[in-house]
Amino acid sequence: MKRVEVKTGKSYEILIRHNILDKSGEYIRPLTKAIRAVIVSDSNVAPIYADKVKASLEDNGFDVSVFVFNAGEQSKRLFTIEKMYMHFFENNITRTDIVVALGGGVTGDMAGFAAASYLRGIDFVQIPTSLLAQVDSSVGGKTGVDLPTGKNLVGAFHQPRIVLIDPETLNTLPEKFFRDGLGEVVKYGCIKSVDLFERLENQNAADVIDDIIYECVSIKRDVVQRDELDTGERAILNFGHTFGHAIEKLGSYSGLTHGEAVAAGSAILTRITEAKGFTRKGTSARLDNLLRKYDLPLNSDFTLAEILAATRGDKKSTGKSVKFIFLRAIGECYINKIDFEDIEDFFVV
Ligand code: MG
Repeated sequence: MKRVEVKTGKSYEILIRHNILDKSGEYIRPLTKAIRAVIVSDSNVAPIYADKVKASLEDNGFDVSVFVFNAGEQSKRLFTIEKMYMHFFENNITRTDIVVALGGGVTGDMAGFAAASYLRGIDFVQIPTSLLAQVDSSVGGKTGVDLPTGKNLVGAFHQPRIVLIDPETLNTLPEKFFRDGLGEVVKYGCIKSVDLFERLENQNAADVIDDIIYECVSIKRDVVQRDELDTGERAILNFGHTFGHAIEKLGSYSGLTHGEAVAAGSAILTRITEAKGFTRKGTSARLDNLLRKYDLPLNSDFTLAEILAATRGDKKSTGKSVKFIFLRAIGECYINKIDFEDIEDFFVV
């Protein structure tokens, strides 16, 4: 088993272990006096894994209910949160009980947000079952939902009590969603770890996925510990995301997946920053080659002008500027704020 400790306001551990789902109750029991636990899961994941987790929680003395919502980003809205609150109420969830998020990023974000707000905050646990959630969204305490006008516009910081990662769940993940997670994995290599990047170049990610999850989570832990509330360094985790979000939005969230859009966004951005002399020569070609190796897109169906126009709606914009993350080289990045009015000029090479 691999362990990563996260020292934020409330500290917690991330455990990576095959078949940890079967033992989830044993790891959760010592952390809480909860009598009841609610498993929150979607219509894809619940049929495969909810019974397993429920049985383990019951074996460890929890009274367990399961809340299932329709799989997909279109469910990540306040109307689902309200249904979740009603389920909590009907199942007598009190402030000392616990929510268990079992699923991908949408599940973790929503269950975390419901837990952050119900009765002004109850404990929750993350059991991420997608690669994207395992390497990225389950760590760091960001929770939330979308509004009709944009993704993740409403939310809260709420750290989980523990994160249980079972790499076995990746065996039931459709290929497209494995790639989705790899988009974020490549990002970690780009911003912080030339070793991880080289490993992805030299090995097949799927063969060494336990180590890759561990490395990504460790990088995210380091960044989140230094900037829990996202006021500074944490922005580097958004490398490729400003253009990526724009691409997702232009595709009405039904084109590229998040990870694919991040991959395309990082490739497009790095091509430009290298041409403009901000990034060491050869970096862009190396990134393109790696993305190609994992069948990730290097481009989108939209023009640069369309992407730039769409970045104006990005929530990471503060006041008059947008924060972009530029690579200095593979494994090294920095934050570059660009004024709204200068964006078009800057990116036209
Ligand atoms: Mg992301």
